[in-house]
Amino acid sequence: MAARNGNKKGFYDEAMETFHGAADLIGMNPRVRMELEEPDFEHIFYVTIETRDRLVPLQASEVGPLADLPPSGVKAGAALEPLADGKFVLHRRALLDADITTRQGVINIPGRGFFRIERGGPRKFKAYRVQHNQVRGPYKGGIRFHQDASLDLFKTLAADMTWKTAIAEVPFGGAKGGIRFDPMRYSSEEVEAITTRYVYKLKNLMGPFLDIPAPDVGTNAQIMAYMMRQYTDGEREHHALRGVVTGKDVRIGGSEGRLKATGQGVVYCIEEWARERGFAIKGARVLVQGFGNVGSATAEILAAQGARIVAVNDAFGTVHADGGLDVPALQRHVHESPANLRRTVAGFTGGAAITKADFWALDADILVPAALGEEIDGEVAEQLKVKLVAEGANGPTTQEGDRVLQARSIDVIPDIICNAGGVTVSYYEWLQNQKLERWTEADVNQRLERAIKSNYAIIRDVARDTPRRTPLHNSRPFCVGKPVDVRTAAMCLALRRVEAHYLLEGFSQ
Ligand code: NAD
Repeated sequence: MAARNGNKKGFYDEAMETFHGAADLIGMNPRVRMELEEPDFEHIFYVTIETRDRLVPLQASEVGPLADLPPSGVKAGAALEPLADGKFVLHRRALLDADITTRQGVINIPGRGFFRIERGGPRKFKAYRVQHNQVRGPYKGGIRFHQDASLDLFKTLAADMTWKTAIAEVPFGGAKGGIRFDPMRYSSEEVEAITTRYVYKLKNLMGPFLDIPAPDVGTNAQIMAYMMRQYTDGEREHHALRGVVTGKDVRIGGSEGRLKATGQGVVYCIEEWARERGFAIKGARVLVQGFGNVGSATAEILAAQGARIVAVNDAFGTVHADGGLDVPALQRHVHESPANLRRTVAGFTGGAAITKADFWALDADILVPAALGEEIDGEVAEQLKVKLVAEGANGPTTQEGDRVLQARSIDVIPDIICNAGGVTVSYYEWLQNQKLERWTEADVNQRLERAIKSNYAIIRDVARDTPRRTPLHNSRPFCVGKPVDVRTAAMCLALRRVEAHYLLEGFSQ
């Protein structure tokens, strides 16, 4: 199951099978296929930072002979930063005017307990940026901070971005990158240092017309702010460079609507699916996996339309309420509670804790996977009782999972259209940055809705082989002469759009 996150050999090759299937179907030019089947560039490098000392809480049984250790007058409130692994980062300001006593490397902090001091020091992190293709525009794709990140993972996700930007009709190519580490185990200052060091090393390879990162798993608007500062600081016309990253806070050049854009795009797809089937979103039962940027926005928008979010699963737990969870309360618990360092739904009192296995088997209409890849394998797909899987995450369904979903007639909205709302509004943010403009959220969402719904309509026509031209869309150039599964249909649309550049522009020698 962890393969999408980098542990299985040949995973990229497996993920590219949809590409090759679609390339065969459209009779893709062999040289274009060769250009696309491997990335343009695979950058692997290392960043180092100086980490701070940690305080590791002692168990009561370990305190024993140290019980008489005099208390140290550390200003705990501001100077001890709690981490998700239970340790605390000891900031140097804690030592100012402090009266410190240590014995055998242990310190006694009144009101906090006994801690072993763990020395900080230099640490090295493996970093990546894969630039898959730029024939349609500058490389574009997220930055992931995760302990399981790998080259294979980023190659796959970078290629997905090439297909996604083509489907969303934004003038970008595909890239993805990040750093192999768990940001929850580092202080905010350390995460800032790791991020800025990453940009320091990558600076010559990125830029608003070269490669434009955005948030992904483990990163957010704050990380984008650090990246923008590191890239633009000291540059002569630094305001002209704001488009070097997207997904920024609206106060520093981000776009209205970007924070929720991926979830909003997921919902626009679900609306179209529901409209065609005469299915009512109001009252629909929804399962959501992942309650970060994508999962929580999708849940919020669907709940506001009257859907019932009956369960949410994340990396640390699952909560369930048959009548529907109170989504705003769950968001406060996850994203605003200072004690909830892992940003998890676990511990939410507005629902019952259930196991992940029970989560998959719940009775519901729609499942929105919005966490990591390879979660819906054959076994999970057999258990699902939903009508639709709307892929908010990238690559949540394995090939075997796909086969089972098809055999069981469970519909799928594939990731490369379903979660394309994020990169679409990233493009709007980039445009606003270029023009020094600000659009309203209503304006952004109106454009997003048109972009997602018209391209999803093309994909459905390709899947059913019903070529049509309407005021909203034209699927005639993309149908392949026979019905195909919807994931292949989405890939056919992407490949025709990418291939057009090579066919019309030719190749420089
Ligand atoms: P995030 O870091 O904000 O949230 C990730 C969520 O996944 C968290 O709730 C975490 O607890 C959960 N999670 C992690 N490991 C898990 C596991 N093993 N089982 C269950 N849950 C687990 O990330 P995000 O930005 O919301 O991205 C989620 C997915 O959506 C990723 O696949 C990402 O590539 C994709 N995506 C994100 C964007 C975007 O704009 N942020 C755009 C397109 C696609």
